[in-house]
Formats: sequence, structure tokens, C-alpha cells
Amino acid sequence: MEENKKSEDVYDMAIIGSGVVGYGTAMYAGRFHMKTIVIGDAPGGVITTTDVVENYPGFKRLTGIELAEKLKEHAAEYKSVTLLDDRVTNVKKGYDDLFEIMTLGQKRVISKTVVFATGTEWKKLGVPGEKEYANKGVHYCALCDGAFYKGKVVAVIGGGDSSAKDALVMTQWAEVVYIIYRGAKIRPEPVTYDRVLANKKIRLIHDTNVKEIKGDKFVTHVMLDNPYNNSHEFKLDAVFIAIGHIPLSGLAAQLGVKVNAKGEIMIDRDSQTNIPGVYAAGDVVDTRFKQAITGVAEGVKAAYSAYDFIEKTKK
Ligand code: NDP
Repeated sequence: MEENKKSEDVYDMAIIGSGVVGYGTAMYAGRFHMKTIVIGDAPGGVITTTDVVENYPGFKRLTGIELAEKLKEHAAEYKSVTLLDDRVTNVKKGYDDLFEIMTLGQKRVISKTVVFATGTEWKKLGVPGEKEYANKGVHYCALCDGAFYKGKVVAVIGGGDSSAKDALVMTQWAEVVYIIYRGAKIRPEPVTYDRVLANKKIRLIHDTNVKEIKGDKFVTHVMLDNPYNNSHEFKLDAVFIAIGHIPLSGLAAQLGVKVNAKGEIMIDRDSQTNIPGVYAAGDVVDTRFKQAITGVAEGVKAAYSAYDFIEKTKK
């Protein structure tokens, strides 16, 4: 880092990740007049793969894309906030305790504080055929790829909120939607569970794992560890895998940020990590509830904490 870096080139806060958490954090930082940059190459983040959001207070019902757009617009209202469509490749501590952030687009950003709002990626099932049939009957996003399966038979694998929501999304196209769950009873939000039970197109298969995905050019069937209708072979046209997420904490870990056994960034109640000036929020952190509203709230706390940190460390 150049030692005589002009102060106007230095950001107060660099937010890595352009999902709703990144935008919400930037909006608060904007209110503190903090010179802020949000860097991310997946604008809107994972919520844009959700068709209907009904649990963000203040909005009874809107799409994931609409919610992300609203938060983005709100953040961009503040003149001190810049949005950069780019991928961060490295974050390191540089001269004078400032952070140096490099991007794929060869940008170098210098900042007093960093917020990791990097989210998660889809967890893979890890069975034979999964890689081979990716996008040929194996999918991870019902909203993105579901329309290909009009009138077909599909299965969603998993038993959390995502599997239930994906199954409901798929009923607008597919003829029959199975939820294949390894446990005794799926456990989405009760409101979503009621909708699953009430939907005649959805059928539940419990206590069952998919051991292999098979096909020719496209998926034709899966192999189950427990027989269904007396057969281990289960015919279908597609599987949507919704078995959870893996935190994208690699960049933070490289910087020395502590992560737990699940790879989630460990934060305190003020969204601070173990490194002064470094914060994290949203699905990537070690909090139990992973909702848009809880992630945004963690981001808001990160903005407050970063503001305090900058004030206290002012030279
Ligand atoms: P979860 O981690 O909540 O659920 C994952 C599901 O997949 C579990 O039922 C788990 O089984 C199953 N599973 C995990 N690994 C395997 C495997 N190898 N083989 C078979 N099954 C497997 O993930 P979600 O994506 O559903 O949710 C992640 C977070 O996002 C949650 O906090 C959720 O509440 C939130 N979310 C909220 C939504 C909302 O609208 N409120 C929508 C979507 C997500 P088991 O139960 O046996 O562990």
C-alpha cells in the first residue's frame, strides 16, 4: 500500500457482498456519513431466488427481487455509498492498520473497516450423478430452473424451509412434486408447512435418502435407500436439491477471522469478529436464525460498531 495514500481515497467501510444484508448495512453506514463501498458480483444475493417473501416486516408480500431492489435503492440514496459490481479476490491488512481489498476486475480498495456479508452457497448432496446431471435434471434453484418441468414429475430433497418453499414453487409447473426427506418429519416454518400439507400436488417421502441420480442425456430416475412403492428405483424428471447452505467465509478466514466448525464467521452481539475493524453479518455468521431481517439487523449492528471503532481510533 502506498504510504502517502490520500485520505479521500480511503473508505470508512468496505462491505463484501451485495445481498440484502450488504445493502442494509450500507444504508446505515450512509446515515453515519461513512464513505462506504459495497462490492459484490451477485446483486441482491440469495433472496432473489425466492419467489415470495412474506416475512420481512413492513412488506406483507413481495418478491425476493423486489425486496433486494428496495434495499439497494435505499442504500444508493446516500451520497457516501458506492456500489461496485465486482468479485473480491483477497482481503489483507495493509499499512497503518487499513484493509486492502483486491477484486477480480483489478480494483484495489483501501478501507478502515470491513464487513463480510458474503452469504452462502448451495450445499451439494455428494452422490453419484449429481455433477454429471447438473442442469440436466439436477438443480438447486426452483425459481430459476423450475419452468423447464411443466407437467413433469420432480422431487425436492431436504426438510427445511428451502425444500418446502421450493416444492411449493414447483407446483406451479410440475404435475407432481415429491419432497424426499431423510428424517421423520420436515420442519419448515409452520405457515409454509400448512401450505405444503394442503397442496394436492405435493407428496412427502420420509426417512429416505437419495443414493444416486441416474439418467441418459437427462435425469430419468434416482435410487433410494428405502423402497418407495416397493422399489428402490424412483422415476422422475428432475431433482431440486435444497439441503442447506455452506457459508462463504474463505476470504474472511484467510484474513485470520475466526470461523466455527461449520465454517460460519464467529461474531459477538455487536457483529464484531475477533479482528478489530472487521465485522460480519447475514447467512455467513454463526447465529442460529438465518432470515433476511435477522441478517440485515446484524449488518445494522456492524455499521454502528464500525462507526464507533472509527471514532475511537481517529488519529
Ligand atoms: P436447513 O439447514 O434448514 O435444512 C436443510 C435440510 O436438508 C434439513 O432437513 C437436513 O436434514 C437436510 N439435509 C442436509 N444435508 C443432507 C444430506 N446430505 N442428505 C439429505 N438431506 C440433507 O437449510 P435451508 O436451506 O432449508 O434453510 C437455511 C436457512 O435459511 C434456515 O435458517 C432457514 O430457516 C432459512 N430460510 C428461510 C426461509 C423463509 O422463508 N423463512 C426460506 C429458505 C430458507 P436434517 O433435518 O435431518 O438435518
